[in-house]
Amino acid sequence: MECDLLIEGGAILTLDARWRVFDPGYLAVKGSRIVDVGPLPVPPTLSAAKVLDASQCLVMPGYVNTHTHIAMSPFRGAAEDMPDRLTRFIFPLEKAMVRPELVYDASLFTIAEMVRSGTTCFADMYYFEEEVAHAAADSGMRALVGETVVDFAAPDCSAPYQGIDRAIQLAESWKGHPLIKACIAPHAPYTVDEGHLAQIASLAEQHDIPIMMHVAEMDFEHARFAPEHGSVLRYLDRTGILSPRLIATHMLFLDDADIELAAKRRVKVAHCPVSNAKSGRPICPAWRLAYAGAAVGLGTDGPLSGNTMDLQTVVSLYPKLQKTREHRRDIVSAREALWTATQGGARVLGLEDTIGSLEAGKEADIQIVEINDFNCLPVHDWYATAVYALQAQNVRDVLIAGRFLLQNRHLTFAAEEELKARLLLHAQRSREMIAALQTSMVDR
Ligand SMILES: [Zn+2]
Repeated sequence: MECDLLIEGGAILTLDARWRVFDPGYLAVKGSRIVDVGPLPVPPTLSAAKVLDASQCLVMPGYVNTHTHIAMSPFRGAAEDMPDRLTRFIFPLEKAMVRPELVYDASLFTIAEMVRSGTTCFADMYYFEEEVAHAAADSGMRALVGETVVDFAAPDCSAPYQGIDRAIQLAESWKGHPLIKACIAPHAPYTVDEGHLAQIASLAEQHDIPIMMHVAEMDFEHARFAPEHGSVLRYLDRTGILSPRLIATHMLFLDDADIELAAKRRVKVAHCPVSNAKSGRPICPAWRLAYAGAAVGLGTDGPLSGNTMDLQTVVSLYPKLQKTREHRRDIVSAREALWTATQGGARVLGLEDTIGSLEAGKEADIQIVEINDFNCLPVHDWYATAVYALQAQNVRDVLIAGRFLLQNRHLTFAAEEELKARLLLHAQRSREMIAALQTSMVDR
């Protein structure tokens, strides 16, 4: 068989159902797909137009980032350590500054950050989400894009709940795209009322799209729904939104009955430990959710909440915080953590048959990571190295659908300096507004 690209040498961590590792191995790509993977030597029947040496590397599936707001990068690092940051700082800032051009430029910038750290697919929720979709499609990145729905006038909507129509439009216009899928993204149970949640649940069914929502994240949210309904999740169950379509982000204020309910309704969970820890929030019972049978993936959250959009820092913190939460060393092995960041994330986004592992027939979404470095050597256990030792700068090559987006540490889809310059321009334009809002927060 003649293939387009042969990746040869290095340890190939397939993350398939049999946990196969080929060290040293080879992987063949034809078009957008993986056509063969196995141990060296390469079978004599296989020839390639191009061969890539991956010796002294780990070859792994690309990370799937299950929750982001990538266009918020111009505001990264502003108003840190303040209480009420979302309502007093972020909402007014977004209303004043977020425009289509900013969303496109910032998205392209953040896609560069994600690609450089091994991410090959992300799920996003924001305003002007069609610009996020365009940035992803233009760069060759895989994405699930969700237009935000809120009960107030938003940067792209002059009236409450207009996001619903925009989300459906988005889903219609990207139907059938090889890299981009759309969903509807009600912001949270405290910004979308019960009637609209029920409407969104039935629209999602009708249009066959996922739903993405922040769930049980805030203490005030828990305080609002718990007295009458027992919990946020039990309140949501009344609306019909708890289903396999729902990608519930955060899931922090859960009791045992909620964990059971989430598993029973087959809700998907986007777990964002770095973002939650930075906000001083409870640790999501992610291990318990996974143990109960819920699909769990990892996310960075947006650049304001998680700061770095590098899933490597998340995959490393995830097992540590679960061990801390449960006071057990033997849970969430490194292998399980890496699975959660790849195949687990793919399951959360409903893409488990397309991406998430390195096997023949799946899309060629691959990261090649150099391990001949001071933070990695020696390698006694591939998974421990991948989860606890790697850093973003170890990522050498990234392919999405068989196409290089990062080649020998250089982005192929945009000029790096131009991406930075455009981002800084938007950050500069936002500076006055950021300063005024920060001052008002300190004054209180
Ligand atoms: Zn979020």
